[in-house]
Amino acid sequence: MGAGRIDRGGTKKLIVAFHFHLSNQAGWKCDICRRSGLEKRRRCGRMGLRGDENGAPVWGRREVVVWECPKSLITGESEMLVEEFLLRRRLGQVDFRELSGRRELSARKVEAFTILEGELRREREYGQQHSRRDF
Ligand SMILES: [Zn+2]
Repeated sequence: MGAGRIDRGGTKKLIVAFHFHLSNQAGWKCDICRRSGLEKRRRCGRMGLRGDENGAPVWGRREVVVWECPKSLITGESEMLVEEFLLRRRLGQVDFRELSGRRELSARKVEAFTILEGELRREREYGQQHSRRDF
């Protein structure tokens, strides 16, 4: 894991990883894609294909859309950051600035977790709006 800041591409990967984590991931297994010939349509990066933003999005959730296979877009790092974020929240370790001050978290992680906090907040707002409409 690098020490630098998270760039725009990294932010997008992180947000995609978050939403992919919360989505139904069944049917998004690259080996099954390949066997059923879906990898071209899904623009799988693992097959060396690149997303075509002029075409239809391959995957999306809420306002997040991607033009390539989300599995190949998400890096191991972004996946790990999402898992650590959700775990720390579950454990009630939500004061990321304080953890950083005690050097328990790197600046990079604090930045990533702050981005994920924003996504989680939107997720909750979305849930509230939609349940209000239902009842
Ligand atoms: Zn794939």
